[in-house]
Amino acid sequence: METLDNTPFHIDADEVLRRAHLAEADPDITQGARKLIEQAQQVARPKVVYEVCYIENKRPDSVEFAGITFTSRVLRVNLDQVERIFAYVATCGTELTEISAPAGDMLLDYCLDIIKEMALRGALEHLSEHLKANYALGQISQMNPGSLEDWPITEQFKLFELLGKGNIEELAGVRLTDSCLMIPPKSVSGITFPTEVRFESCQLCQRDNCPSRQAPYDPQTARAYGVAQ
Ligand code: SF4
Repeated sequence: METLDNTPFHIDADEVLRRAHLAEADPDITQGARKLIEQAQQVARPKVVYEVCYIENKRPDSVEFAGITFTSRVLRVNLDQVERIFAYVATCGTELTEISAPAGDMLLDYCLDIIKEMALRGALEHLSEHLKANYALGQISQMNPGSLEDWPITEQFKLFELLGKGNIEELAGVRLTDSCLMIPPKSVSGITFPTEVRFESCQLCQRDNCPSRQAPYDPQTARAYGVAQ
């Protein structure tokens, strides 16, 4: 298993303030946020652990690698022409969970949440760049258990089994609870694979008003994957 714990991560203070709707706020209000951002910048260590796996079996609605069968029609379709995948866990890092906003300050709590989200995005971007540079990959896409009904969140247990629960906790500080929550919360598990056409789970998801949506719902794509409702 490989670990990426040297993610270059710079917190853009203006971006945090903008996302927290504080860009136009009085300096007396933003001062606390800027102090928190500085503190976070000093400790933040986003991380990724990943494993290279080769596909061993493909069945109509499942695919097997590392001796484990993952059940998802969408994943199976996406891996139709793929022989090698990268299973990963990415996290904002436990270091950011060790700082906190003053008790009861919901605004600063929200800023800290935004910073953790940015750290997680940074870890995922680092993984993409690293895989492209080291494995001669062109376009890549990702899927995450739980992002679609077709690939239930409980399949996270299989990803943790594949990567080794103890390894993930030791190397990235991430653990998975019995109820499928990752600690720290700004962590994500998934599979990265090469694709000719970029795939986003959001294309197959009809959830309204999702703040994390990356692409519009596309009924034609959903039909092509056999998951149209
Ligand atoms: S729209 Fe939101 S819930 Fe649906 S797959 Fe995209 S990020 Fe996930």
